[in-house]
Amino acid sequence: MTDPTPAAPALLRLTLRAEPDVFLVRQRGREVAAAVGLEHQDQVRLATALSEIGRYLVVTLPEPARAEVAFSAALDSTPPTLVTEVSAVLPAGTSERTVAGALVLGRLVDSLSITPDGETTVIRMTRRIPSTANPLTPDRLAVIRDNLNASAASTPLEEMAEQNEQLLAALEETRAQRDELARLNEELAETNRGVLALYTQLSEELDETNRGVVALHAELEDRSVQLRAASEAKSRFLANVSHELRAPVTAVIGLTRLLLDPASDPLTAEQREQAELIRSSAADLLSLVNELLDLGKAEAGAIEPNWSDVELRAVFGQLRGTVRAMATRPEVALVVVDPDPPALIRTDEVLLTQVLRNLLHNGLKFTEHGEVRMTAEVDGDEWTIRVRDTGIGIPSELQERVFEEFYQVPGRGSPTGARGTGLGLPYARRLSRLLGGDLRVTSEPGGGSVFTVRLPVSPAP
Ligand code: ADP
Repeated sequence: MTDPTPAAPALLRLTLRAEPDVFLVRQRGREVAAAVGLEHQDQVRLATALSEIGRYLVVTLPEPARAEVAFSAALDSTPPTLVTEVSAVLPAGTSERTVAGALVLGRLVDSLSITPDGETTVIRMTRRIPSTANPLTPDRLAVIRDNLNASAASTPLEEMAEQNEQLLAALEETRAQRDELARLNEELAETNRGVLALYTQLSEELDETNRGVVALHAELEDRSVQLRAASEAKSRFLANVSHELRAPVTAVIGLTRLLLDPASDPLTAEQREQAELIRSSAADLLSLVNELLDLGKAEAGAIEPNWSDVELRAVFGQLRGTVRAMATRPEVALVVVDPDPPALIRTDEVLLTQVLRNLLHNGLKFTEHGEVRMTAEVDGDEWTIRVRDTGIGIPSELQERVFEEFYQVPGRGSPTGARGTGLGLPYARRLSRLLGGDLRVTSEPGGGSVFTVRLPVSPAP
């Protein structure tokens, strides 16, 4: 039998001879563990390890079996440990590895070593002693040793009762855990039900909203169909009325011309003046009717562009000639700048000429001094034609309105006294779009306006 630690004498020594001693060793081992301050779980672990070893030795050792058990505390290690040594003379041929293989102590102890010491084999186990407010000292160890050696071991029956009690406590704990688990499950189920209810409610709300959106969409669709129908009816009306008006107005003009013909019966000066008035009014009416007819046709989609490769310089040259006749005042210059050749564009020459003539006329109409200048430039696959004037300009909030039918900037006639219908710009924009482009304006009251026509060099078919 070897001393467990060189530093301190054993706290308790026991001898194991037969089966009942296993209980004794187990129980006293736990007492020692409790006395040095091991926690409850660790006390049970050490006791279990001791009964494993005890049972093994009782079966393995030859008769008369004998093993010495010694408990001691090693205070010099940090943290201090409880050292348990079981020493026995094993049957010849039993190696330490055989013992190690037979003893499955798992994590019951912190360290386990099986070493020979002469004839004897020493099984050494250690377990850390947790630090407490009242640390172990040699003096305290002496007291513990005295107490342990004074107290008698309990009988195997008592030990069994003790073990039973522990089992019951463990059972109780398991039960409590099971109840807690059931409660948690119930809570989880409750939460699930809540989430499901919320999900259902949200789904219903979403469905409801969706139905609303669908209804709104259908209503919008209806409205847009109605609007389209109304707009088509208006265009048809415009086209029909203006067509019907043209014949009588033309007749009135023809008749007044006849009246004024020197070959006809002579008129008094007053009659002549009145007939002139009728003729000029009828001419105004005819131009309005013609414009209405044009616009009506454009809106009804009745104008089909006649596409061809057009030389812009030719268009510009023609406009320079025809519009100049209108620019009779020396205060306003008409400048038409020819683009660099070759200035080709695929478009409808007649319609394009109408658009540009319209813009040039407006420029001249609304400019008192300065100039009206038309330029063109090509950038990639787009032509930009600008008609810029130094006229009265258009307030920014009205710059889109001038493209509405019959709209004329209120509170001012044209400075040149020319009258208008408010149909020129809407028609010009419509034609520009028909030609695959657009017409826009930028302007500054008092500073002049720039009307910009953008057209594709070659519109997509
Ligand atoms: P109209 O010239 O026959 O009145 P338009 O549709 O061509 O009709 O033009 C609408 C209105 O836009 C004009 O009455 C005028 O108030 C304004 N406007 C058009 N061109 C110019 C311009 N170059 N400068 C200033 N105002 C313009």
